[in-house]
Parts: sequence; C-alpha cells; structure tokens
Amino acid sequence: MKIVLASANKGKIAEFQKLMPNDEVIAFSEILGKIEIDEDQDSFKGNAIKKAKTIYDLLMQKGFKDVIVISDDSGISVPALNNEPGIYSARYARLNATDKENNAKLIENLNAINLEITPAFYTACIAIIYNNETYTVHGWMHGNVINKELGEGGFGYDPMFIPNGFDKTLGELGYEAKKDFSHRTKALNLAKKVLDVIL
Ligand code: IMP
Repeated sequence: MKIVLASANKGKIAEFQKLMPNDEVIAFSEILGKIEIDEDQDSFKGNAIKKAKTIYDLLMQKGFKDVIVISDDSGISVPALNNEPGIYSARYARLNATDKENNAKLIENLNAINLEITPAFYTACIAIIYNNETYTVHGWMHGNVINKELGEGGFGYDPMFIPNGFDKTLGELGYEAKKDFSHRTKALNLAKKVLDVIL
C-alpha cells in the first residue's frame, strides 16, 4: 500500500522515508504537483488534519483508492518566548522563510531578552487518513535552545537545539542520534500502532 506524505518539507520527507524503510513512502507532490496548503488552524493537530485531508480529498478525486495519507505538523516552542514560534515555526521570520532566516529570528528574540540558553521543546502531530477515517498522534522532544547555530546536521532549528541528556546540538549530533528519540520518531511509533490496528 502507498503511503502519501502530505508534506513539501524536504527535511521531513527524508526523515519519514528513513523511519519507514519497509513502506513505499512518497511525497504528495510526486502525484499531485505543487499545492500550497494554508496552515491557518490554531494547533499542530488542526494543521496536521487540514494538510492530510486536503491531500486525501484530491487523491480520492483523482481515483486513488487504497491509499494512506500521513501528514506531520511540527515546530519548536520556547516557554521564555511565550511558546514562540510554536505553530508558526516554518514561517517565524516571514512566509516561505528559509531555515536560516527562522533561526536568525529566534536568535534575535533570545538575544533581546539576554538568553544564551533556555528550555525548549519540539512537538510533532501526525495525522493519518485511511478509508475516510482520521487519526492523530503526538510526540515531543525536550531540551534547550541556544542563541547560536552549531553543526550542519538535521534541518530547521536543529543546529540551535540541545536535546536533554546531551551537550551538543542536533546539528552536531546528526540524524543518527535524533532518530532514536525525536518528536517525529515518537509520533511515528504511535502512528505505526494505529496503522497496525486499522490495516
Ligand atoms: P510545518 O511544515 O508547518 O510542520 O513546519 C514545521 C517547521 O518546524 C519546520 O519548517 C522547522 O522549522 C520546524 N521543525 C519541525 N520539526 C523539526 C525538526 O525535527 N528539526 C528542526 N526543525 C523542525
């Protein structure tokens, strides 16, 4: 069975494909081309459902029947910044911002309140749609953000994030460390349990 990812984020797509090596996981753009989905809901869950439903409905209209759509809405929250950027993580600096621009904005906001390091956490909500039914699961990863980027691994805010139990950023630790305990891994492990029950 095909698993279609309702995401255009290359970093996320690569992580999902590595996390599900035994499944045929493809990005929606390979079937449907480029589609902009307005992430205008007020929670990770709301946005994850909206993304999955948009792609699922388009696939049904095109006659794809036996397909599972999975979406991920995720982001990083910094309690000292009133949980910013949170659901706005992808567009913290501006709409369609690059990772570099978003990281620069987070560094600027940490510096504005004189914080070199402060607690932060990632959230991932995964929505699954199969047979017209919707399921959601969440995963979290806790640690600290620092006011600089270290390392080139991972994507997004990873060069600024030090997971609990480590003294290096995910940019320095790389995907191999991250895959064992990331918010996405935890959510996906729950999503796999859902798939085991419904398939
Ligand atoms: P979304 O496509 O709206 O879910 O965007 C999520 C944004 O959150 C990404 O663009 C990244 O900036 C950030 N993000 C989510 N997960 C991760 C991660 O695992 N590492 C680094 N940044 C992440």
